[in-house]
Amino acid sequence: MKKVVKFGGSSLASAEQFKKVGNIIRKEESRRYVIPSAPGKRTPDDTKVTDMLYSCYGQAILGEDAEKDFEEQLEAIKERYNSIIRGLDLELSLDEEFKTIRTNFSKKIGRDYAASRGEYLNGIIMAAYLGYEFIDAAEVIVFDENGNFDGDKTHEILSARLENTERAVIPGFYGAKPDGSIQTFSRGGSDITGSIVAKAVHADMYENWTDVSGFLIADPCELSVTGQGHAACLLRHHHRQAVRGLADPQGRTVSGPQVLADAQIIRQRQITGGRGYPVPPYDHSTVMQRGVVLENIDQQLAG
Ligand code: ASP
Ligand code: MG
Repeated sequence: MKKVVKFGGSSLASAEQFKKVGNIIRKEESRRYVIPSAPGKRTPDDTKVTDMLYSCYGQAILGEDAEKDFEEQLEAIKERYNSIIRGLDLELSLDEEFKTIRTNFSKKIGRDYAASRGEYLNGIIMAAYLGYEFIDAAEVIVFDENGNFDGDKTHEILSARLENTERAVIPGFYGAKPDGSIQTFSRGGSDITGSIVAKAVHADMYENWTDVSGFLIADPCELSVTGQGHAACLLRHHHRQAVRGLADPQGRTVSGPQVLADAQIIRQRQITGGRGYPVPPYDHSTVMQRGVVLENIDQQLAG
């Protein structure tokens, strides 16, 4: 049994959350490939690290005029990671990484690079915490020179790389173009990375975790861009009217309260070749096991 597990930013927002995630991963030997997002919000009025990075980079490109804000914002980002490292008692320093990031921001290296550091750094921490190998997504997730995801090349490189890799952490959300420059998927794109990795390793299951309760009411694996797929729907049990679904390929919508067409899922299935490993239709899913599951990280650990 081989599983790919992706954890959303809310599940990795603090050392406490990391510990829960570590326990989930260690609970099953089969959880061999881990895709982290960047740290998300710890409280409702907190800021996601990805948003902090976009903002910090915005200051960096203003140059000298905004130098103080740039430095302060970069320091605040560093502190988010350092508080996780301290909370996990890790012997790990990101000082060198932050020096490189600082230099690259000053060189105005690009917004995608800036945003991608959220997942990159979280991946380094996660790998150190789990004792898994760290694989930089820039080495295995390929975009072409126009910034379009190159599924064939990625599959070739990634499956070869993971074939003899027992356990690895691969940051979500980004890859690189042929010239080495970093390119991200659209926001929320770590879900896509997870499904790409699941395909590359022929995973038995792709689990997508976050810490908001909810459950799928249809099997997302039945969803197909070519066939008779029906719908992937998610019903948040604390909010029944917030049901999302998807029109099937013939354009029929699924019954249920307030079912909304969501073209994004079809697009994401096209990215992974339309076979298995769907990305979840909706960000509030917790774990996705062929549409059955459904616990948030606290519930799983309590059980
Ligand atoms: N961290 C990125 C974002 O905030 C990607 C992701 O979370 O999947 O959009
Ligand atoms: Mg997400």
